Amino acid sequence: MRVYIRTYGCKVNQVESEELAARLVAEGHELVRDEDQAQLYAVNSCTVTGEADAKVRKGVRHAALLPNVEQVLVTGCAAVMHADQLRELSEKVVIADRETGNVPPALGSVFHTRVPVKVQDGCENFCNYCIVPYARGASRSAPMSELVSRVAALAAKGTQEIVLTGINIGRYHDLETGANLAALIRALHEQGGIHRIRLSSIEPPDVTDELCALLAEGVLCEHLHIPLQSGSDEVLKAMGRHYTAAEFTAAIKRVRAAAPQAAIATDVIVGYPAETDADFEATYNFCQASAFSKIHVFRFSPRVGTPAATLPPLDPQMVAARAARLRELSTELAASYAQSQRGRTLEWVVERLDPLTDQATLTSREHLSMRISAADHVQGELLSLPFDMMKSVRGDFPETSIPSLSEA
Ligand code: SF4
Repeated sequence: MRVYIRTYGCKVNQVESEELAARLVAEGHELVRDEDQAQLYAVNSCTVTGEADAKVRKGVRHAALLPNVEQVLVTGCAAVMHADQLRELSEKVVIADRETGNVPPALGSVFHTRVPVKVQDGCENFCNYCIVPYARGASRSAPMSELVSRVAALAAKGTQEIVLTGINIGRYHDLETGANLAALIRALHEQGGIHRIRLSSIEPPDVTDELCALLAEGVLCEHLHIPLQSGSDEVLKAMGRHYTAAEFTAAIKRVRAAAPQAAIATDVIVGYPAETDADFEATYNFCQASAFSKIHVFRFSPRVGTPAATLPPLDPQMVAARAARLRELSTELAASYAQSQRGRTLEWVVERLDPLTDQATLTSREHLSMRISAADHVQGELLSLPFDMMKSVRGDFPETSIPSLSEA
């Protein structure tokens, strides 16, 4: 069968789509890039906001109407939470069984400079606004021995960078050895061959001294994504987050003590039902003082089945205005971080080459990107070059937290 795969949502879904692709290819199916050619249309869904649900439903309806499509396979979080509603969209819809968390082989035929590696799934934090623990279940980890073998195979194929992904990777726990995330990273580093190890997202309480030591040693890329969600202790408490603003500050101080030039990105939810003007100002000031390299701004979206969904919502216009202010701040902070790196010689990897423009896109350990002439460069090549703001690429390589919300 000819198969087209469409992915919504977070990096975990991207990894799972690659795994699905690998399984389908192994079973003799053919992947196509043109959806009009597809007989089987797979939708790997996301349900983290109402907007995400709407996009998935639209995507499923669209797929079912394509002339060659015989089946629309829906997998991912929306398939778990809204199977019946999705089935009602078309008789072509088939809902996939939830995966068990095994880590099947990656798609072998495509060379990627940077490869996401799923090390963990599920979450037991039950933050009051989040549907993910209900959709993905309890935390479970891939065996460290399997991950080491897999990463060794990627290194042998020339992969320069891996991004460790999961829903809550700080909860990584290898059942056989008891290894935690830091021990896993060390093991992956020590097997050799992979030049860079990056984390997708890490919860504030999991920014441990052990992890910071890995940053200081250059084992981990100097780029962390630590979701703040709010700078107000009252809102953090209402959200059911397990840290205070002061503890978050202590975590980023530890990071900067270990790696002073590190880029620290974050997520903020604006318009949580408990958020007052003063709470929002506290968040704004906190973000400014923290000098994040990027703020992913999300408007609160009630998810049926979560405690926060029962609370009265705030005025949408006020929430939109707060989101706009924070986005503006994000733009300023991103520019300021980039400015601070200007002229510094950074390590770059050639991420991709564009034959049409003859440009090479480079990514630094700090997650900056810039374009240079492609002349004589090859994908995956490592370069040492000063960061040139004139050549910087903004808005490229969007990072999304786990779970990924639709940004405001
Ligand atoms: S927001 Fe993150 S930590 Fe909280 S319940 Fe959802 S997945 Fe878990």
